[in-house]
Amino acid sequence: MQLDNLPENFKPVIAFHGHLCPGLTIGYRAANAARKALGLERDQDEELVAVVENDACGVDAIQYLLGCTLGKGNLIFRDLGKQAFTIFRRKDGKAVRLVFRDNIGASDPKSNDLRRKVMNGQATTEEKLQFNQQRTQRMKDLLAATDEDLFDFKQPDFIIPESARIFDSFACEQCGETTMEPRLRLVDGRKICLTCAEPYHRGW
Ligand SMILES: [Zn+2]
Ligand SMILES: [Zn+2]
Repeated sequence: MQLDNLPENFKPVIAFHGHLCPGLTIGYRAANAARKALGLERDQDEELVAVVENDACGVDAIQYLLGCTLGKGNLIFRDLGKQAFTIFRRKDGKAVRLVFRDNIGASDPKSNDLRRKVMNGQATTEEKLQFNQQRTQRMKDLLAATDEDLFDFKQPDFIIPESARIFDSFACEQCGETTMEPRLRLVDGRKICLTCAEPYHRGW
């Protein structure tokens, strides 16, 4: 999908993610809004922490633009299904939680029906065209809107996650695979990894 006049600093994000899509555009706008709100530079060594409440396309923009990455341990995924992005700055504890307002059409039942058809391979050629036009328009709208139109600026009600730690590892006494200590369970006195351990459910 092509859009004219894409912002220069969006292009490498698209290359990193692999395609241009509305979700990535939301993440791109969130990263820029967080930068502006907190006066941020890209993270070098964990001075920023991002807590993301979804694992969709937009998170790649957060990783690329803010340098909060899964591998560095300063990207925390909370599986809550919300387009919400919290960025903390360690040195002064400043934070912003950006919650996407979704006020430009994503929840429109008609376009949801159309998307479902296209995704299920049931759309006609005309419907596919219509879908692509809507999608392009949506990305244009996302790029043109103000930060305040796109996001509610909130404060997180959770504290800043501690820095990534390095733990000792032990071999699982069942499968033999080396596993870091906080992910081992004691089962009948043996250190067992989570994949080998029986699940323990309490009904939620
Ligand atoms: Zn995507
Ligand atoms: Zn095991």
